[in-house]
Amino acid sequence: MIWSNDPAAAPYNPPAPVICEYCGAERYHKGINLFGRVLWPPYGAERCTCPEAVAAYEKEKAEREAREAAEKAAAEAERMRKRIQRIVGDSGMGERFLRRTFATFEVTEENRAAQRAAKSYADNFDALLPHPGAPEPGKNGLFIAGPKGTGKTHLAAAIANQLMHGDPPTAVICMTMIDLLERIRRTFGKGGVDEADVLTIYKTVPLLIIDDMGKEPATEWAVSTVYNIINGRYEAYLPTIITTNYDTQALIQRMTPSTTGDPTTAEATIDRLMEMCRGIVMDGQSWRSR
Ligand SMILES: [Zn+2]
Repeated sequence: MIWSNDPAAAPYNPPAPVICEYCGAERYHKGINLFGRVLWPPYGAERCTCPEAVAAYEKEKAEREAREAAEKAAAEAERMRKRIQRIVGDSGMGERFLRRTFATFEVTEENRAAQRAAKSYADNFDALLPHPGAPEPGKNGLFIAGPKGTGKTHLAAAIANQLMHGDPPTAVICMTMIDLLERIRRTFGKGGVDEADVLTIYKTVPLLIIDDMGKEPATEWAVSTVYNIINGRYEAYLPTIITTNYDTQALIQRMTPSTTGDPTTAEATIDRLMEMCRGIVMDGQSWRSR
């Protein structure tokens, strides 16, 4: 190793010093001694240590890291989207959901607070995801409850649409509980894709939205499958959004299989959700007065 301003470097054609654009100091190149010759790697000038130059280096580094992180996130979302496409068929965001955005949501006195909470959730979603080295994300899901027709599904879909079309995009699965289970059921006896693949996608997609939980009475298989998915996401600190027409007690009843009458799994599922989700009640006098 030899510096270009070292008199001993003179016979090896050292590159001219670089002038710091901030303080005007001359910065020299670092050469590599190799078998009696000296190589001068390109861009090998030492960094200036003046505060302006250090600040510029740090800014450039932060910008590069942010760019790399965004590219990595976009590539990861694309990989996940393709896996979802291959294994589940699609994200579930069919016609029913795609047009339901924040722009098309009609804000009223009754739903204003819920709309704000949902928008803020979508705007700050990245901070709700688990990041290596960061503190546990806490309650990073939403439990949106209220009577039919109050806009629960619309708000959940608006969050999904904003995140799926964000920069970088987030992979989202948004399905009714019935569809979600149907995708798993469909894999029975289907070559290539098995139940475990679909379950893995549901457990690992950055955002899973289960619309209309409890709409249909649950079978033993359905409730244990839903528990399996929710618990997997709970253990991975991944966010989940639920919409339902029922409060938690009614939901436990709805999700208790009539064949056994045993509410244990339904209760465990709702307990998990309460630990994972912040609650949003879509107002409506009928709901309040129940
Ligand atoms: Zn300088």
